[in-house]
Amino acid sequence: MTLELKSLEILHEALSVLETGFDSLPEFAPEVDVDALRSALMEAAEKMRDNQPFPHPLYIGQMIKPPHSIARLAYMLSLWINPNNHALDGGRCSSAMEKEAVAEIAKMFEWSTFLGHLCGGGTMANLEALWISKRLSRGGAIVASDQAHYTHRRVCEVLDIPFESVPCDSAARMNVNALEKRLEQGNVGTVVASMGTTATGSVDPLVRILQLQETYGFRIHADAAYGGYFTLADNLLPETRAAYDHLSEVDSIAVDPHKHGLQPYGCGCILFKDPAVGKFYKHDSPYTYFSSQDLHLGEISLECSRPGSAAVALWTTQKLFPLTRGGRFAGDLAKCRSAALRLYDLLTTDGRFMTALPPELDIVIWAPRAPRASEASRLCEAIFDAAEARGLYMAKANMPKSLLVHHRPDLEWDQEHVTCLRSCLMKPEHLEWMDRIWDALDVATTEVMS
Ligand SMILES: *Cc1c(COP(=O)(O)O)cnc(C)c1O
Repeated sequence: MTLELKSLEILHEALSVLETGFDSLPEFAPEVDVDALRSALMEAAEKMRDNQPFPHPLYIGQMIKPPHSIARLAYMLSLWINPNNHALDGGRCSSAMEKEAVAEIAKMFEWSTFLGHLCGGGTMANLEALWISKRLSRGGAIVASDQAHYTHRRVCEVLDIPFESVPCDSAARMNVNALEKRLEQGNVGTVVASMGTTATGSVDPLVRILQLQETYGFRIHADAAYGGYFTLADNLLPETRAAYDHLSEVDSIAVDPHKHGLQPYGCGCILFKDPAVGKFYKHDSPYTYFSSQDLHLGEISLECSRPGSAAVALWTTQKLFPLTRGGRFAGDLAKCRSAALRLYDLLTTDGRFMTALPPELDIVIWAPRAPRASEASRLCEAIFDAAEARGLYMAKANMPKSLLVHHRPDLEWDQEHVTCLRSCLMKPEHLEWMDRIWDALDVATTEVMS
């Protein structure tokens, strides 16, 4: 594997431009002992080799997508200043860039008025959303599907709000009949709709949830941490498309630029439809908000210090890859989904495998065919290891009986779950590489099953 280094050429150029902004100051050049840095850095470089090859197309495992070169460059560029987007005092232009970049994300969801900002990630974004929910719906429970990210249950513990989960249907989407039964009992403050679950990429039936909202009145928070950007893709199933087409009707949206938005970790985003929720964030800072009457992002954000570099990286990435339907970024997302569909096709036509859910976004789940749940799980572990030995890196997921039993009535359930193989096809290159991915999986499977 060759790391992309060519783009580093323009980093020096960009830093020279940055430097000229401070020409009026007396000369100051921090000293550096490069030799001393070298030995520490080489030690780190050696240590970093102990990683799976996340940027390579044969890494088809966890929800890990390499940041784009432009994001890496812009992030590095801004580190020479290291702005803090808490207050304009700490990050004037990077705060403006954050406001612009976040407005572009809001526009992708068809919101022109909104309140939003970047944050550490999906956990933080969801926490802020549920915190506002708590303030607005006193005592009401948060309800999510049992396939929703585990962060919601924990965040509710932190916030001391009751959390309840409702089961999923056979497509791993929230079962709306079960939701309605729960709503009939009353005291639900907020329903969390997962717009792409982390395990299977299933999208909750938002249209039906919105219909229930008319009768029962509750807030809707969309957890689109992983799946949000797929609203731009042009190859979704009709029911998935319908859910995304109604996303603008929810009360808040969490989306992670560090999942599918080409950013390094530390870049989540929370958006609220009603800017008035800003009042809940109000606080007085004795230290910071002096430089300007304009909005300091720290006044509408739960975290205090935040990396301005994350905003600079996101802003610059979105310059190169605007969040528009039909654009290059949208096309790359569609390719990820096509890769998932292709892998699913190959798996379903090969008698050695069992599949259940067709991929709704770009995650595929499958297991080798076996008479018993325990044996299928054991074979998965073995294929996982054999594939890795051949340079194909997958992930595993425990899928509960309740989800698979409709699809696999033939399977003998001697345990309550099957350990499945799971693959997040988050790189557009996966589509071109699918033959090689399949070859490696084929060889590993033959080795284990014969
Ligand atoms: C990843 C993810 C989260 C958690 O986000 P982090 O950025 O890892 O904190 C929450 N919800 C969903 C659906 C996710 O995929």
